[in-house]
Amino acid sequence: MSTIADNIASVRVRIARAATRCGLEGDRVDIVAVTKTRSIDEMEEAARCDVIALGENRVQEALSKWDSLASRSRIPWHLVGHLQKNKVKKAVEIFSCVQSVDSPELASVLDKACAAVGRRLGILLEVNIGEDPGKFGVSRAALEILAEGILQECSNLDLKGLMTVLPLGLDERGTRMLFASMRELRDETESRLGLSLPVLSMGMSGDFEYAVMEGSTMVRIGSAIFGGRIN
Ligand SMILES: *Cc1c(COP(=O)(O)O)cnc(C)c1O
Repeated sequence: MSTIADNIASVRVRIARAATRCGLEGDRVDIVAVTKTRSIDEMEEAARCDVIALGENRVQEALSKWDSLASRSRIPWHLVGHLQKNKVKKAVEIFSCVQSVDSPELASVLDKACAAVGRRLGILLEVNIGEDPGKFGVSRAALEILAEGILQECSNLDLKGLMTVLPLGLDERGTRMLFASMRELRDETESRLGLSLPVLSMGMSGDFEYAVMEGSTMVRIGSAIFGGRIN
């Protein structure tokens, strides 16, 4: 087995163990292989393994890889990084899900771009749950209004859940508290708006076991699959 396949298998085992410790079902957790800075060969290899999508954080880099990747039609691509409005048209051409929607303006531009090409787009709302000034994402307080606006006005977007990236440097207790807050926020938003938000995209290489213990349904893994990054 290749290193990449091995690494994905071992992430899967670690997810299962973390889930079992909390009486949860680890096979309910999807793995997104985050492929920023990785080569086409590495991406092809990950795409053949137990991952539901490839994740890129920049539209420009994703576009430059798109034509070379033979598996592009077999595995969905998710945008996990911040999206600028002037890149929306291109983003809609290649991504099946944008995990980083964090403003009504961005949602509206995405909706119009989808309408123009006659397609639907999955979205997650990015929440800055740690209130980190260096991170993107809507505040806890603004989430409900954002979600409500999208339901009412963006008929081409399928709102599937929430995503977060935690601040760096938290210990286990702080990490788990914020992941638990995400789950509670999801539950509250579901009941207040009467909708279903099944996807909770949280957990990266350094913290995905804690995320799984707190109810993550989707982990975004880069370095634990592909090795350390230079940039
Ligand atoms: C890079 C990135 C990841 C993966 O990070 P690793 O620590 O390498 O697993 C996950 N989510 C987002 C938004 C990223 O930019």
